[in-house]
Amino acid sequence: MKSLVEKNQARRKKKPSKPERPKPALKEERQFMGAVDDVYALVVSEVMRDLKTPLRQAIAGHRSYMNDAAGDTWSKHLPDFYKEKLKRFASQGWRNYVRSRIKMPLSRIAAKTDERFLKSINKSIGVDFAALLKGKSLKPTVETSLDESTNLIVDVSNDFMKKVQIAVNRGVSNGFGMQRIAQEIQEETGTTKKRSKLIARDQTAKLVSDIDTKRPADLGIEYYEWLDSRDERESGNPNGKYPNAKIKCWHIARMDVGYGSGIFRLDEGASYAGETGLHPGKAHINCRCRKRPMIPGIHFELPDNKKPR
Ligand SMILES: [Zn+2]
Repeated sequence: MKSLVEKNQARRKKKPSKPERPKPALKEERQFMGAVDDVYALVVSEVMRDLKTPLRQAIAGHRSYMNDAAGDTWSKHLPDFYKEKLKRFASQGWRNYVRSRIKMPLSRIAAKTDERFLKSINKSIGVDFAALLKGKSLKPTVETSLDESTNLIVDVSNDFMKKVQIAVNRGVSNGFGMQRIAQEIQEETGTTKKRSKLIARDQTAKLVSDIDTKRPADLGIEYYEWLDSRDERESGNPNGKYPNAKIKCWHIARMDVGYGSGIFRLDEGASYAGETGLHPGKAHINCRCRKRPMIPGIHFELPDNKKPR
């Protein structure tokens, strides 16, 4: 890195600009959201389709049981359905399916984020770093994200099935009809949809944050500037919607821990409100902050007491 600084100083007269704020990979993020949403829609439509017949039988059975205690035992119609669905959503086959649906969109987010990182660092220093990243694959980073996302989405499908089971049992034993029970399931559907959306958004932010950490580390860059989103949804923004959030990115991005305002070490991150190792994009759920790689002597000057001796 030192020779790079010298090379740069010799080659350029004017001060190099800081790397541009990375643009989010919006199109790729939307594709990932869409894939997660497709999985959610498939779970709901499959459960609702296969529930119809056993539910109708259970409702009729419950009525005949209420009219004549010796009538149909209503509770015999649903267990097979529950068993089959719970087994399916816990199976390796379902896990593989979820994984295969989100693999490509997640890889595309990673590739686009990587492409933009390289472009902005190249531009800011005037050196092409592509060769230095050869052999340093993002594959393990993407795999980690893929595993975690798959687990979360599989959990959502299982939880939805369990909630359907509770709503149906309660509805039938209360003597509710098809429509009323469907309505109650509809409410669970809304919660599940929201949860899938949150997972998609959060997993995207985590993946981008991991790449924002890995790529500078691959190049031996040790510092970054904490770039906050500077909008009303930012946590801790005194004029925004969440001025009292526990982790205030607004404050962190303006903190000086000894390297300059908003500058942190990649291997340390920030400490705030009793938490350590905080990084942009991962500081809290829905954190939309990013890292700007910062090279001392090029993009900023380390204070004398922090300079390597
Ligand atoms: Zn943030």
